[in-house]
Amino acid sequence: MDLFQKCISDPNAERLHMARELNVYPYFHVLESRQAPVVQMEGHRVIMLGSNNYLGFTEDPEVIAAGHAALDKYGTGVSGSRFLNGTLDLHLQLEKELAAFTGYEDCMTCSTGFQTNLAIISAICGKDDYILNDRENHASIYDACRLSFAKVMRYRHSNMEDLERILQSIPKTAGKLIVTDGVFSMRGDICKLPEIVALAQKYGARVMVDDAHGFGVLGPGGRGTAAYFGLTDKVDITMLTFSKSLASIGGCMLTSHKVADWLRHVSRPFIFSASLTPSSAATALAALHRLIQDPERPTRLMNIAKYFQKGLINAGIRIIEAPTPIVPIFTYETMDTLWYGKKMFEEGVYVNPVITPACVEGECLLRTTLMATHTEPVIDEAVGIIARVLREKPDHK
Ligand code: PMP
Repeated sequence: MDLFQKCISDPNAERLHMARELNVYPYFHVLESRQAPVVQMEGHRVIMLGSNNYLGFTEDPEVIAAGHAALDKYGTGVSGSRFLNGTLDLHLQLEKELAAFTGYEDCMTCSTGFQTNLAIISAICGKDDYILNDRENHASIYDACRLSFAKVMRYRHSNMEDLERILQSIPKTAGKLIVTDGVFSMRGDICKLPEIVALAQKYGARVMVDDAHGFGVLGPGGRGTAAYFGLTDKVDITMLTFSKSLASIGGCMLTSHKVADWLRHVSRPFIFSASLTPSSAATALAALHRLIQDPERPTRLMNIAKYFQKGLINAGIRIIEAPTPIVPIFTYETMDTLWYGKKMFEEGVYVNPVITPACVEGECLLRTTLMATHTEPVIDEAVGIIARVLREKPDHK
C-alpha cells in the first residue's frame, strides 16, 4: 500500500473529511489580536474561553516591556543549544529564580514544554526501567516514554488500586518512575498526589509531575500541584511549561542538583536543540516576577472560574466542577460537539471541542478555560450564549 494512502483513508482522515462535509470543522481559527479575555478572531469579537493564558500575563505591560528589552539587548535568537553556544545569563537567572520560587535545588530550561518532557523522560529512563503512566497524561509524556525504550505500564486514570497492582507486578529492584499530570488538561481534575507519593515510597519508585496546568494556578502563590499538597520534597521531578501561566513559550525541569547536572550532559532533546529565544526567556521571567508581586492572582482566577461554574450549573448545564480553571462541558457525541463548538464561535464564544482520540468515544466535551482577567459581565455574557446554543438541536445530520 502506498505510504500516503493513510492521508485520505485512516480514521483521522475520515473524521476530518466528515467534519468538513458537515461544515463543522473546528481547527486553526485565526486570532487577529492579543490573547485576552475578549479577542478579535476572523473579523469578529469573540469571548475567549479556550486559552491557557491562565493569569492573563500575555498582555501585561511589564511582561511585554521585558520582551522588548531582551530583543534590544540580546537580539532575536541564540542560534544553538544551551550545551554549546546558546546559554545566556538570562537563562541562568530564569532557572535560578524558578528553582527558588518552587523550592527545588535546580532547574533546567528547554524551548517548549513538549521538549522538556522528552528531555527528562528519555534520558532518565532506559530499557531496564519501568514507567508508570496515568492513562490521561499528556501526549508529550507518551512520546517521551517511547523515546526512552523503557517498559511502559499505563494505569487507569487516577486509580490507585490499579497503580498498586502494577507496582506489585514489577521486579522490586528495577528502576521505576511514576508520571502524572498535576492537573489533567481535559477535565481539570487534580492528581491524587498524596496517594501516589505513598505508593512510590512503599515500592521504591520515583515521582514526576507534569505541572503545565497546575503552576500559577494551584498552591500558595501559584507554586503548583506539589506545593498545593505540601509535598514538594516528595516529588522528585516537576516539569513546567512557560506557554500557559508564564505567558511565553518554553519549559523547565525542577529537581535536585545531582539529577539536573547529569541530565544537562546526557539528555539529547536538551543538548541537540537550540535554547529559548532571549525574548521568550525574558517574558517568562517577567511573568514570574509579576506572579511573585501579585500572589493573589491565582485566587482571582479561581474566583472567576467558580463564578463561571455556578453560572453554567444554574443554567442546567452538565459540567465537572473541578477546583481548577478548566471547566469541561459535556456534549457527548463527536459531530454534535463540533457543531456546538462552531455555533458558539459564530455567536461570539470561543471554546475547544474535545473529540476522539483526545477522549473516549461518547464522552466528547467542550473544554473551557478561564483567565484571571475575565470579568463577571463578560462571563455572564458567555454563559448566556453557551446556554442558548446548548438548547438548540444540532442540525448537521
Ligand atoms: N504537558 C501538558 C500537560 C500540556 O498540556 C502541554 C501543552 N498543552 C504540554 C505538556 C506541552 O507544553 P508546550 O505547549 O509548552 O510544548
